[in-house]
Amino acid sequence: MNAPTPPPGGGCRSAPVLKERGQREVFCGLTGIIWLHRKMQDAFFLVVGSRTCAHLLQSAAGVMIFAEPRFGTAILEEGDLAGLADAHVELDREVARLLERRPDIRQLFLVGSCPSEVIKIDLSRAAERLSQVHAPHVRVLNYSGSGIETTFTEGEDACLASMVPVLPETTARELLVVGALPDVVEDQMLALLSDMGVGPVRCLPARRIDHETAIGPNTQFILAQPFLGETHAALERRGATHIPAPFPFGEEGTTAWLKAIAQEFDVPPEAFAAATDAPRARARRAIAQASEHLNGRSIFFFPDSQLEIPLARFLTRECGMSAVEVGSPYIHDAIHGPDLDLLPAGPQISEGQDVDLQLDRVRAARPDLTVCGLGLANPLEAEGLATKWAIELVFTPVHFYEQAGDLAGLFSRPLRRKSLLKVEAAE
Ligand code: SF4
Repeated sequence: MNAPTPPPGGGCRSAPVLKERGQREVFCGLTGIIWLHRKMQDAFFLVVGSRTCAHLLQSAAGVMIFAEPRFGTAILEEGDLAGLADAHVELDREVARLLERRPDIRQLFLVGSCPSEVIKIDLSRAAERLSQVHAPHVRVLNYSGSGIETTFTEGEDACLASMVPVLPETTARELLVVGALPDVVEDQMLALLSDMGVGPVRCLPARRIDHETAIGPNTQFILAQPFLGETHAALERRGATHIPAPFPFGEEGTTAWLKAIAQEFDVPPEAFAAATDAPRARARRAIAQASEHLNGRSIFFFPDSQLEIPLARFLTRECGMSAVEVGSPYIHDAIHGPDLDLLPAGPQISEGQDVDLQLDRVRAARPDLTVCGLGLANPLEAEGLATKWAIELVFTPVHFYEQAGDLAGLFSRPLRRKSLLKVEAAE
């Protein structure tokens, strides 16, 4: 089992990083509730926020109509904001009403927002108090999804990090896979690990509170998502050991991720090959087909989801693209280092954002494809640049072998569409 070959001219791990701390254009951490509430089937996310927060959630969730929704907003009215009403008393009343009506709820997250932070409602005190009232049937935790301090994927990080201190202790040697994956993708991953003979495997977040995940000094954890810096730190504080690896995007990334686990769990090379050879070949074929329009094209990443570095590695090494700039809201060496090692030297690596300066750079470079937030995509399209919405990459199943072709397809689609429009305009 060999490690992936480093690029001939060296990787980007020690490349100079352009650090920017200016204006940012990103969604807030409340957005994560959309995928987290689907994953955690007995959880409820109660945002303590304003009507704006409620609208954001509704529009991000699309027009789904739920008989029994699993997220909601406790709206702070003017009286609360002016400090005229006791928000804690009202919150307790709302939670009691909700839990009485919904006995299926086993985990309740109080999610902070910009307004709750500005008026300094202490949600950790509220969560402690409500936990005492509603335990043992319901566990109440809190985290912040406020746009003041989070980008949109940090909402998941903050949610998972809030769970780590309350998970039970174990001394068992177990693999913990960290990061919410769609159920179908998680099942594929569990099947691959089982075929390799690795187990027991736990997931954080688990689908239900009863599938309890425990943590201890013999827990080896690997991240499935690259935006989990706070959770990574919380797990290390509990004594768990991180398995560093490139992220499982594309054939190469998935193989390297599985190999990192195989090495820790002493999987024989034959067992590894037997489990991975067939899906690897399928993934290679699918990528080759889907990346026809990507080969030789350039790409520019605005910092948005923290998926940028592993995706740039996938697109440059497996799809023949060249990266002009790879921006990420945060770069964490322990988490992004293995992907930076493999990303061929050349692109500007940037951390944080000063949106006007970055727009100047993208206009000067005129890349074939720009990955950015929704707010920037339309203006850039109007200037003739093809764009890809970063948020789509979080809502679409993109991990592991079976999704590798779809992942390449997500990037080739805007380029194909642009070339079709050009043909039509020429006719
Ligand atoms: S948390 Fe802040 S940024 Fe997010 S919707 Fe509410 S007010 Fe807007």
